[in-house]
Amino acid sequence: MARLTTEELEEYIKGVGLFRNKAKHIAATCQLLLREHGGEVPRTREELMQLAGVGRKTANVVLANAFGIPAFAVDTHVLRVSRRLGLASGITPDQVEAEVTALLPEEQWLDAHHWLIWHGRRQCYARRPSCSDCPLAAICPSSLTKGAISDA
Ligand code: SF4
Repeated sequence: MARLTTEELEEYIKGVGLFRNKAKHIAATCQLLLREHGGEVPRTREELMQLAGVGRKTANVVLANAFGIPAFAVDTHVLRVSRRLGLASGITPDQVEAEVTALLPEEQWLDAHHWLIWHGRRQCYARRPSCSDCPLAAICPSSLTKGAISDA
């Protein structure tokens, strides 16, 4: 990959959003991995966040999914669904990460991340959550079936 031009990389990933920007980041990251990490992906959050385009969320995704190191990544779905379910009250990803990881044992962080994303994509939609057939409606403080007003 490090030998590909940015334009060549774009061809491989043009099905994903923001592919031009991502191709630039991948090219820069490949060079940095070769130059500073012997071609290996580092295993600490601090080192991962030095890579192009990698913030805390992506670093946590890599730590948990690639290396099995406990980490809880907060994307837009995790943030929204955690707040609606009352697992967190913070408004930033860092706040929600801190609250949810304080609630759950670290061996459940990766599963919880995937469950919350899946629920956000398939049930607890951003604009119109499908509360009427949600299996969590009975315990969800934001359920529209109870007349609660769901936040964004
Ligand atoms: S009851 Fe509604 S707001 Fe609560 S988790 Fe289910 S879909 Fe989301």
